[in-house]
Amino acid sequence: MRRREFLRLAGLALAVGAANAACRTALAMGESSAPGDRRRVLVVGAGLAGLAAAKTLMQAGFEVQVLEGRGRLGGRTWTSTHWPDAPLDMGASWIHGTRGNPLTELAEAAGAELAETDAENAWIYGPDGTELDEDGEERLEEIQDWLEEVIGEAQDGDEDQSVRAAVEAAARDEVYSTADRQMLEFLLNTILEHEYSGSAEQLSAYWFDDDEAFGGGDALLLEGYQRIVDSLAEGIPVALNEVVQSVDWSGSGVVVKTNRGTYSGDYAIVSVPLGVLKAGDIQFTPALPARKRTAIEALGVGVLNKCYLRFEEVFWPAEADWLQHIPVERGEWTDWVSLTNATGWPVLLGFNAADKGREMESWTDTQIVASAMQTLRRMFGAGIPEPVDFQITRWWNDPMARGSYSFNALGSELGMRDHLAEPLEGRLFFAGEATERKYFGTAHGAYLSGVRAGREISRR
Ligand SMILES: Cc1cc2nc3c(=O)[nH]c(=O)nc-3n(C[C@H](O)[C@H](O)[C@H](O)COP(=O)(O)OP(=O)(O)OC[C@H]3O[C@@H](n4cnc5c(N)ncnc54)[C@H](O)[C@@H]3O)c2cc1C
Repeated sequence: MRRREFLRLAGLALAVGAANAACRTALAMGESSAPGDRRRVLVVGAGLAGLAAAKTLMQAGFEVQVLEGRGRLGGRTWTSTHWPDAPLDMGASWIHGTRGNPLTELAEAAGAELAETDAENAWIYGPDGTELDEDGEERLEEIQDWLEEVIGEAQDGDEDQSVRAAVEAAARDEVYSTADRQMLEFLLNTILEHEYSGSAEQLSAYWFDDDEAFGGGDALLLEGYQRIVDSLAEGIPVALNEVVQSVDWSGSGVVVKTNRGTYSGDYAIVSVPLGVLKAGDIQFTPALPARKRTAIEALGVGVLNKCYLRFEEVFWPAEADWLQHIPVERGEWTDWVSLTNATGWPVLLGFNAADKGREMESWTDTQIVASAMQTLRRMFGAGIPEPVDFQITRWWNDPMARGSYSFNALGSELGMRDHLAEPLEGRLFFAGEATERKYFGTAHGAYLSGVRAGREISRR
């Protein structure tokens, strides 16, 4: 996923002491109560949001216990070391907008090496595999301008509709050739569906791009996001493989049951993905209030999947960051990143998002690689070699994620992310990228949501 403008190819203030509330008993199975009068917070999920919340609270003097369902930290940031000489991010890869982005500061503090990539440093190949010539590029730009206009008009309209509905209604009055149609589908896929993870049919024309971005370029972390995650997690007590099944906030504190035991705290922060909340994997007692349930149902969760292919040597333009393909088959292998320019590795990363991304999860690895290679052969010739290895994600079928990130779906409304974030009865709090109105769907959004939830408790 890359952040670029639509249609143009705390220091933590943590002075709050912990001494102001009467100490409630805080018991975790097999543990003693919180020492002294320190209040205890349970944090569900050790992604960037949960870890940021935990860090914020610990710095404010709270006792914290993070409960994480996986056997690792980081959630949807996950650096694979399957290729020891080439650590690869299977979830988030980029710090999007390095200027003013809190993750840039964290990365620097952790001594992480960053490498900028440029979304405009892209080679674009047509459906027949040849690079677009000047006429082709001009036509693509014209269609892009048209698309921008159509979306602008839809956003001024009286009623919300899906991006697809807006585009199809406007396209009825145009004479489009097959080639134009393919370009239009390419643009919808690369600019909207990869960016927001929902399909054009699902994205709200009103709200899909109602987010903000930091300035500056996009940077990869050469050793992966793990560097930030590990540095953030330093000193935070995290219990791994604790799959939370229920959260009881009916009493004066919160009781959380996992597959392994029962934990109690004065407060809890739930930072699991929106997809997990949608699936009802965690039972809340009492049930979550209606407007939070409505937000959970109405906001969307989509897919962006990755397929890394490692080759013996580079056979593509090594100076390119992005290799784009206008596919014959809608939404298939539209976007590729070459890691060669940034890292020197002979590795290509292919993406599939939204409907196509979800569909492909049911394919075998062999089928996915064969399909990727068919596209690459079209672009670079029948003689290119087979990859020496591959790594593939399936975020939709990952029970701890149930999708890649959230989007503003048709039927959702602006305030719903605030409803998702709203604390309940001063004891149950919510974090995670989906609770972030301005920066949803991003790693920095997740981080900022965790800091916000931590502060909500520490200010009490
Ligand atoms: C393929 C992909 C590419 C992306 N690319 C980028 C990018 O380049 N740049 C960017 O800024 N963002 C990107 N993102 C988005 C970014 O990764 C996420 O927005 C962010 O990591 C979400 O963090 P979080 O803490 O909100 O959720 P998560 O990281 O998902 O953390 C939630 C945690 O809760 C745990 N959990 C779930 N259920 C339970 C349970 N029942 N009990 C206990 N624990 C549970 C999970 O295991 C997880 O660790 C990408 C995401 C994906 C999937």
